[in-house]
Amino acid sequence: MQTLRDVLQQAQQRGAAVGHFNISDLVLLKAVFEAAQELRVPVIVGASEGERAFMGVRQIAALVKSLREEFNFPIFLNADHTHSLAKAEEAAKAGFDAIVFDHSALPVEENVRKTKEAVVALKAIHPSILIEGEIGDIGTGSEIHEAASDLSKGLTTAEEARQFVEATGVDILAPAVGNVHGMLRSMVRGEAKKHLDIERIAEIKRAARVPLTLHGGSGTDDDDFRRAINAGINIVHINTELRVAWRRGLEGSLAKRPDEVVPYKIFPSVIESVKHVAGSRLRLFNGNGLIAQAV
Ligand SMILES: [Zn+2]
Repeated sequence: MQTLRDVLQQAQQRGAAVGHFNISDLVLLKAVFEAAQELRVPVIVGASEGERAFMGVRQIAALVKSLREEFNFPIFLNADHTHSLAKAEEAAKAGFDAIVFDHSALPVEENVRKTKEAVVALKAIHPSILIEGEIGDIGTGSEIHEAASDLSKGLTTAEEARQFVEATGVDILAPAVGNVHGMLRSMVRGEAKKHLDIERIAEIKRAARVPLTLHGGSGTDDDDFRRAINAGINIVHINTELRVAWRRGLEGSLAKRPDEVVPYKIFPSVIESVKHVAGSRLRLFNGNGLIAQAV
């Protein structure tokens, strides 16, 4: 079975990015897995601290492992935005493939010190685990925001990226390149799109020389995604768009069947609603002509 490191290298060579989708229940997990399976592309499932607290750290790990083993399929598990070493160690011990160790809100020297410490401690638990560090400001909350926040002062520079990767030993870097967590209402309605600083991504890639993750991908312009992947993005995170599809799917399903109480009759159309979004993003990230070679 391929490791996540292998999959990232192959994505880089193919000019593709691996889709990363957050889950907080079995409906989201099934939708993401089925979308990836149908397209035959590798996929990463992510769970933030809140999502892990809801599902259970070891329980999520067991579910993803069972899919990987039963279907011999490259589905990987990431501990998204982890803000303490204790929580990161808990995920490493449960068998997560990767951890986003996020102290980007701290002054950069402190972020470097804590991230470096975490890399050493987590690799002692699992030498093959991949650690992602984060610098710059990409906002918080994969939900619908009322107003756009000005993150222009928190954009990552190529020099900061190079120094951070060298000083910490992280395997993957999450930079701030115009991306932002969550979506505005206008984006949910499809009237506005996020745009990325492609030149900055290319400069960071040349300086940092590690796989790059784009957080806050929901609502981003399709062409910006293609250009960002060409410039060196290897993982793209989508969460809010899936959550919107989950809610819309559930509202639709309940409205259609006002007297239905059987969960396994209510949820299949919710899975379809989420799967539609995950599949469309996976097709884009993997490039239409490359799908068949991926898995
Ligand atoms: Zn994120």
